[in-house]
Amino acid sequence: MVKKLRNDCFALPAGVHWTPVDEALDRLEHAIETVVEAGLVDLSQASRRRLATAPLALRAHPPAANTAVDGYGFAHTSLSGEGPHALALIEGRSAAGAPFSGAVRPGAAIRILTGAILPEGVDTVVLQEDVEVDGKTLHFSGRIKPGANCREAGEDMVQDQPLLRSGHVLRAPDLGMLAAAGVASVDVFDHLRVGVLSTGDELMQPGQTAHAGQVYDANRPMLLDMIDGWSHQAVDLGAVGDDRDAVRARLNEAAERTDAILTSGGASAGDEDHVSALLRSEGSLSNWRIALKPGRPLVLGFWKDTPVFGLPGNPVAAFVCAALFARPALSKMAGGDWLIPDAVMVPAAFSKSKKPGRREYLRARLTDDGRAEVFASEGSGRVSGLSWATGLVELGDEAVDIAPGTPVRYLPYSGLLN
Ligand code: AMP
Ligand code: MG
Repeated sequence: MVKKLRNDCFALPAGVHWTPVDEALDRLEHAIETVVEAGLVDLSQASRRRLATAPLALRAHPPAANTAVDGYGFAHTSLSGEGPHALALIEGRSAAGAPFSGAVRPGAAIRILTGAILPEGVDTVVLQEDVEVDGKTLHFSGRIKPGANCREAGEDMVQDQPLLRSGHVLRAPDLGMLAAAGVASVDVFDHLRVGVLSTGDELMQPGQTAHAGQVYDANRPMLLDMIDGWSHQAVDLGAVGDDRDAVRARLNEAAERTDAILTSGGASAGDEDHVSALLRSEGSLSNWRIALKPGRPLVLGFWKDTPVFGLPGNPVAAFVCAALFARPALSKMAGGDWLIPDAVMVPAAFSKSKKPGRREYLRARLTDDGRAEVFASEGSGRVSGLSWATGLVELGDEAVDIAPGTPVRYLPYSGLLN
């Protein structure tokens, strides 16, 4: 008699504890600490570095009251109601970098250009487009508010104010702000060095000739780039076959020059799963059997005090596990925050029913009208679906029945890859 697979053959084995994703994340968050040192670097070298100390504004921004437009400045008390107003235009002007040193008396106005300091006696500016100049008299009409078109000293940043919190990753807008506040150097954490090692006898490298039984190493370039996107220093540890001594030697070498190691493949409990076997027998294996699809098998352990994220070999599962577990953990190790992926609720453009007991991530992208469609196949070897997608749909641990229009959690790649 031919043995027929039961339709629940992929269900979780009874009586075995599968750790829920949130519990595994919680344990990981508490197990991980910052491991890098900090030091001062020039602002020009600070892009994408994590702050170790909150930088303070070295001066107010703007440092002095100035005009936001090209126009004419005067004291607001020189006006009465709607006007028409006629003010005596005085000699001279105030320009950015070339302020007017005299005072402007009540009833008079002065030519003033964007960014120029308000001369003494000036608190309001009228736009040049709204006035007529007749010889030495300025004419305009209409009600104008006191302080119109002017920027106050310190309205943007106050001197000595902390500008960003420690742990923040510096991006282009931050560098602009810091420079505006006169900050020339910042106290940032050193780069976290994260190694990437592929394992498997079947792996060939792109450019090599591969026979039908071999596959190209897809995980290594993917993981190295993810690490780069997370603003760590990616260390390429190459690929190694399913050979315990070779894996051990590579891990030993990696532990010397990295702060964390991502391996892929060999994390299951099979004969050729040397990563999990080695961590169990010679390192420490702290967490596995996580109730997650795709994501099994995931191993979290230590090799000579260096954390090892033993990711599954299947590229889709490796991607999901790296994004979910390695991303927040590495961020915290690097001095940053424990990261929670960005998520938005969007209507589903698909149908699916899911059993309780594990969390699932589907490769997804948004349609033009903002619904999430999912990749045709859930096969975790289908790396093309990862590239097709622009994010993941997260289905909770409980049972769900999704029909078109059902709200689902969508995690954009922009959140997972940064
Ligand atoms: P493993 O986790 O070692 O049992 O591998 C599971 C599946 O992922 C197998 O089909 C492997 O050939 C495949 N695989 C493992 N490592 C890689 C890799 N670096 N790139 C692409 N596929 C891989
Ligand atoms: Mg393998």
